[in-house]
Amino acid sequence: MAYQQLNLQTLVDFLKTLDEMKTIFSDFNHLEVKEVGDGNLNFVYMITNTQNTEETVVLKQAVPYVRLVGESWPLPRERMNFEIMALEKENELCPKHVPDVYYASKEMSLVVMQNLNKHRVLRGEIIQGKYFPLLADHVSTFLAKTLFYTSDWYLDYRSKKEMVGKFINIDLCNITEDLVFTDPYEKNETNSYNPKLTKEDINFIHEDRDLKVVVAQMKYKFMNNAEALLHGDLHIGSIMVNEEETYMIDPEFAFYGPMGFDIGAVIGNLFMSYFSHSYRQKLLGRKPYAYRKWLLDTTEKIWNEFARKFDVCWTEHQEASNNLYWDYTEGKEHFAHLREVTLKRIFSDAIGFGACKMMRRIFGLAKVADIADIQDLDERAKIERMVLQMAKEMVIQRENFSSIEELVDLAKEISPLI
Ligand code: ADP
Ligand code: MG
Repeated sequence: MAYQQLNLQTLVDFLKTLDEMKTIFSDFNHLEVKEVGDGNLNFVYMITNTQNTEETVVLKQAVPYVRLVGESWPLPRERMNFEIMALEKENELCPKHVPDVYYASKEMSLVVMQNLNKHRVLRGEIIQGKYFPLLADHVSTFLAKTLFYTSDWYLDYRSKKEMVGKFINIDLCNITEDLVFTDPYEKNETNSYNPKLTKEDINFIHEDRDLKVVVAQMKYKFMNNAEALLHGDLHIGSIMVNEEETYMIDPEFAFYGPMGFDIGAVIGNLFMSYFSHSYRQKLLGRKPYAYRKWLLDTTEKIWNEFARKFDVCWTEHQEASNNLYWDYTEGKEHFAHLREVTLKRIFSDAIGFGACKMMRRIFGLAKVADIADIQDLDERAKIERMVLQMAKEMVIQRENFSSIEELVDLAKEISPLI
């Protein structure tokens, strides 16, 4: 079917034409369509049979521009091709944490998927101070499986390169290259600043040679390190949760890049939440200690569990694959050393990328509600300074942290956990 942009009126007629929907909806005469308002780039609709609300799907369609801005910012709708391919691959590798795809059409630039209507977007939940005891376990599983099983440590030489080829995502990578690694560090017109930040605050980033050099190195690494299939935009607005379950949504930025980029995205976002709750917990009428402790514990656990699970995937694969490379007396030990240095390098990448993700949320075009929605601009500026201070130290010192606990200690030094 040739591309057409669906709307509230045409959507049900389109769904009726799909065989795949006949196994989901027992009846097409009572479908209610609601548009979900909080997407930036695309249109998202929930379609539910009002006679049986268990019969429900989400339809997401890309338009040839950025939804939030309009036609003045064109962006190829083919970005949906990457989202479809990534959802399918991630769902195959980690079905518990990725929505099921019921139907997808590259021609129509749309996907029909599992409606996560019993879940909420994690960012909003964290802003409200909610706890998710299984979050770290689930996120670390997703990261370990999707990153290990799409890398050269697992795939054969041909499949890996074919995957790299399929996931050349030029336009969306370019958004990251500009908005995460370039614009925030210069006087760029896409930037926006809390008016309470001073010139010194801004120059703390814009005019620091060491910082500019390492950020440029991180950008180069992002562009030249086709290590594994990344989600590509794994901030806490791309995670949907309830107390039992966790799902990663919205992988339209998927491409083959450095593993640390996805891990850093999650960790960097949690540090920003930690800083924001030095103030937000008071707004909620609570003492800040307990919730901020949970955020730091979750951050620690995400890295530590990721590293453990990645290591398990790798050793299991090694044992199962009859690989002769380490087959000599000290081979086991040498293989263990390889895993250790590899994880150490992924860790320093994650710290560096997480830092860039943090800085761009303070100066760049796209903010995080955790911080930017704080009405008191002086309080907001205090938090923004904490984020900048932490991020600068992280990216410059990224190779000198020997554990996640040490990184968490830095966050506690900047904003004491009391
Ligand atoms: P965009 O690419 O435009 O940012 P998202 O994929 O982030 O779009 O989706 C926008 C919003 O739609 C999400 O924040 C969430 O509220 C909702 N949403 C997206 N996918 C689902 C889903 N499978 N189930 C329930 N809600 C969803
Ligand atoms: Mg998106």
